[in-house]
Amino acid sequence: MHKKKVLIIYTGGTIGMCRTENGYAPIDGYLSDAIADIADLKRPEAPLFDLYEMSPLLDSSDITVREWNKIGEVIYNSYDAYDGFVVLHGTDTMAYTASALSFMLEGLSKPVVLTGSQIPLSEIRSDGRDNLVTSLLVAAEGVAREVCLYFSGKLLRGNRSVKMSADRLVAFDSPNYPHLADVGISIIYNRSALASPDDKPFRLQRLSEIPIGVLKVFPGIQFSLFETIMTEKLSGIVLETFGAGNIPSYGGELIPMISKAFKGGAVVAVCSQCPSGTVTLGAYETSSQLKRAGAVSAFDMTTEAAVTKLSYLFSLDISKEKIKALMEESLRGELTK
Ligand code: ASP
Repeated sequence: MHKKKVLIIYTGGTIGMCRTENGYAPIDGYLSDAIADIADLKRPEAPLFDLYEMSPLLDSSDITVREWNKIGEVIYNSYDAYDGFVVLHGTDTMAYTASALSFMLEGLSKPVVLTGSQIPLSEIRSDGRDNLVTSLLVAAEGVAREVCLYFSGKLLRGNRSVKMSADRLVAFDSPNYPHLADVGISIIYNRSALASPDDKPFRLQRLSEIPIGVLKVFPGIQFSLFETIMTEKLSGIVLETFGAGNIPSYGGELIPMISKAFKGGAVVAVCSQCPSGTVTLGAYETSSQLKRAGAVSAFDMTTEAAVTKLSYLFSLDISKEKIKALMEESLRGELTK
């Protein structure tokens, strides 16, 4: 029987970090030695794998569009040679990278599983071993044929995932979407939640560096302070609003700013600060003005998905009206209307 083969792409992050005098940092070559010590990966049930180490290795706080394009290119160039892909990544921005890749990898029909760890493999009690071994199995199995994120017993849709905890081992969840699989003694897939890949040919859409701003409103926010940020220089603005899409209406300051950015060509997407639930523009007076000003609803999308989706849509050669329309449609299962 053909033995499944997975490509591990190592970008950096805690999983491969070692202690240095300035705190944890990724060390070139360390991860391949650490992986060679994982006995489970030598078992006959384990898939074959190759390791691709990116350079430089990064703390994921330093990940940019450049690295997203690089990861996308590695997957694209080796797509036919492997049954699936595991991307080892820092946890801090893993949900952003997972979201970005979900949009960039058009027509994907193989698993791409992002994982990492809260405790490095170089330390006792590392959660990296299970995260890596299970991710490899998921990538080889080919049941979840989409961009997903595996962490501490949960397989999540990548563009629905959020980092929930800075210190718990169960660090991720997808509050607005069921788990793709729950992993205990067995890997139990939730088949009705899995994406059904379409027949489109596999293609990589590289991202351009799109000027995007995120503004989180809070009680008493002085909008005038943000006037210099909310300009026509921005292509996309993600507003993190209260509850179902509400903003403070005092002073009528935000709407003129949004209208200005909107006239300058920006697309304004409205997310909620609540981890779960959806935006319903117009449900309250304090949100209907956003709709009138031309903002679009991000429904139950995460901020990570909204930011990367804007980045993806602006990288395509399509009109602003089309971008607005697509922001409100599900492209990769990132939102529920
Ligand atoms: N700062 C680290 C990173 O995101 C945290 C981690 O990997 O858990 O690269």
